[in-house]
Amino acid sequence: MNTKEAKKRIEKLKKVIGRYRYMYHVLDKQEISDEAHDSLKRELSELEKQFPGFVTQDSPTQRVGGEPLDKFEKAEHRVPMLSIDDVFTEKDVEDWESYLNRLLPGQKINYFCETKIDGFAISLLYKNGLLVRAATRGNGKVGEDVTMNIKTIESIPLRLEVHGRAALKRLDKIAEKGELEIRGEVYMDKKTFERMNREQRKKGEKEYSNPRNLAAGSVRQLDPKLTAARALKFLAYDVVGDAGQARHSEEHEMARTLGFRTVSNEKKCKSTKEISEFFQKITRERDKLPYNIDGVVVTIDDNALFDKLGVAGKSPRGIRAFKFAPKQTTTVMEDIKVHIGRTGAVTPIAHLRPVEVGGVTVSRATLHNQDEIDRLDVRIGDTVIVGRAGDVIPDVIESVKDLRTGKEKKFYMPRECPVCGKILSKTEEVILRCTNKDCPARSREYLYFFVSRRAFDIEGLGPKIIDQLVDEGLVSNPADIFDLREGDLVSLERFQEKSAGNIVGAVKKSKDVSLARFIHALGIRHVGEETSVDLAQYFGSIEGIKKASEDDIRNIPDIGGVVAREIYNWFRDSRNLSFVKDLFGKGIKIEKPEHVGAKLKGKTFVFTGTFEKLTRQEAERKVRMLGGDPSGSVSSQTDYVVVGENPGSKYDKAKELGVKTISEKEFLKMI
Ligand SMILES: [Zn+2]
Repeated sequence: MNTKEAKKRIEKLKKVIGRYRYMYHVLDKQEISDEAHDSLKRELSELEKQFPGFVTQDSPTQRVGGEPLDKFEKAEHRVPMLSIDDVFTEKDVEDWESYLNRLLPGQKINYFCETKIDGFAISLLYKNGLLVRAATRGNGKVGEDVTMNIKTIESIPLRLEVHGRAALKRLDKIAEKGELEIRGEVYMDKKTFERMNREQRKKGEKEYSNPRNLAAGSVRQLDPKLTAARALKFLAYDVVGDAGQARHSEEHEMARTLGFRTVSNEKKCKSTKEISEFFQKITRERDKLPYNIDGVVVTIDDNALFDKLGVAGKSPRGIRAFKFAPKQTTTVMEDIKVHIGRTGAVTPIAHLRPVEVGGVTVSRATLHNQDEIDRLDVRIGDTVIVGRAGDVIPDVIESVKDLRTGKEKKFYMPRECPVCGKILSKTEEVILRCTNKDCPARSREYLYFFVSRRAFDIEGLGPKIIDQLVDEGLVSNPADIFDLREGDLVSLERFQEKSAGNIVGAVKKSKDVSLARFIHALGIRHVGEETSVDLAQYFGSIEGIKKASEDDIRNIPDIGGVVAREIYNWFRDSRNLSFVKDLFGKGIKIEKPEHVGAKLKGKTFVFTGTFEKLTRQEAERKVRMLGGDPSGSVSSQTDYVVVGENPGSKYDKAKELGVKTISEKEFLKMI
């Protein structure tokens, strides 16, 4: 290849690689395989080695190249990178609008909303289309020059290039000539963050606390190779400098046209009501986003108005960060009380001075067990930090020990059930339990559960009414519920005839119940909704479960030994059996499980050997679901022996007894 040809080839390769970069890292479209992409890069790199004179700053080979730095140079911002004031409620947004209305009387204001990435702000300076400097925000006026590291981020173009949109003609010129600054957020997506922490765990090292800090730390690595390994990403949100933009929304469009990625959620809003609606929508969807966000940025869309409003203190008047309610807050733990659940588990509950966390008021949080209380060293009267585990369940995170006065009291779990007085026993792991089956606290919890949506789903019958019914002596066990008459209910305090009628109707309706729900409603320990469905499908009836051996139950995929024993034992307890009998005595009708058919009714199947399509368990399950009986041994009563690869002695026995043998294929056909 001569010099001229090499130059041409290098130019072409850079273009093609750049285009694939844009497709992949900005548009999420993979046009060629990673291997092919790498191969093109390798060719480019080889050519550049042969013809070093043609290496340019914007070559994809220059993304990771430089030697480690001793320190970062200072980088001055021509236009300061200002901070944004926070607002937390709809009322705050309305107050901001009235403030703007006073400053701009009679002016109609349009807003632009975009999600606020929880990342690290970066300014990118392009001269004549080429990325010449990337700087951190620093103190807003002076940051650090992190160009070498930022170049490793593939979603940042090394050269501006206009993609589509012929309408934005001025951009063509700007992309080639003059100066343009693009601002945005460098971040690490959730997946990468999880992967990095997995690796830390594997190495036995400390996990990173959050993706923002990790992204910031990665940008500030002195060795660009380390930054490159972190797979950071970039989202643009500002175009600084004159590119002919009149509105902030246009800057997003321009950034996209110039080869950047922007946030996926943005909206033009005409009123604070629309802003709030957008905020609510984002609040609901935030967990599904691939990156962390901490709110919504609301800007006055009209840049001229924005500039006219100017700056107050350190932040512009025309912009606010509408932040999600804090997920952690502090409050006083006023007491710890124990709660007895329906299976007798005794749980310590923190009674908190009511406080708002993540948008809801919280006054109770479980402390799980004595070990957890000891680990946290929380004491009654402590100021505690409260969060919401998984964003939902209130959780005491720690106590602020420096705020103690000396009057705080340590808490110890009681030795006896505070309701029935029975000595509590420590069952599995660390759980304390009241084993008294007649414990009023347990029975009441069980009643709450029995009528709940997860079990019999009796509409209108909640804990409050159950409490009244129990206190009046109208109900002492779940079977009593089915005897309730309107008159019983009307006699309760503040009860109206109409709602009494509704409840009686709902009770009646609930008598038709699916087998899975019925099993779940029995409240067998460890038997949740899913296990109930499995049991229903596998055995097809309560009688079936009753007859099953512990091994039969363990045969069900997903049911382990402990659970199988629990179920088996439950059906060996005469009290439980008479409870089931009582329920049926009240006219409960089990709807036939949908999947159970009668195709194989009365037929016995034995399986031997290994099968291609089904595991033995699946095959046996299919037989049960179709009303047949799988069996472990061949006898003259066996209808079919299904023979797989390498059959065992069962096959010989079948031949000996003259039992019909079929293949897996024939079996599948049959079902
Ligand atoms: Zn008790």
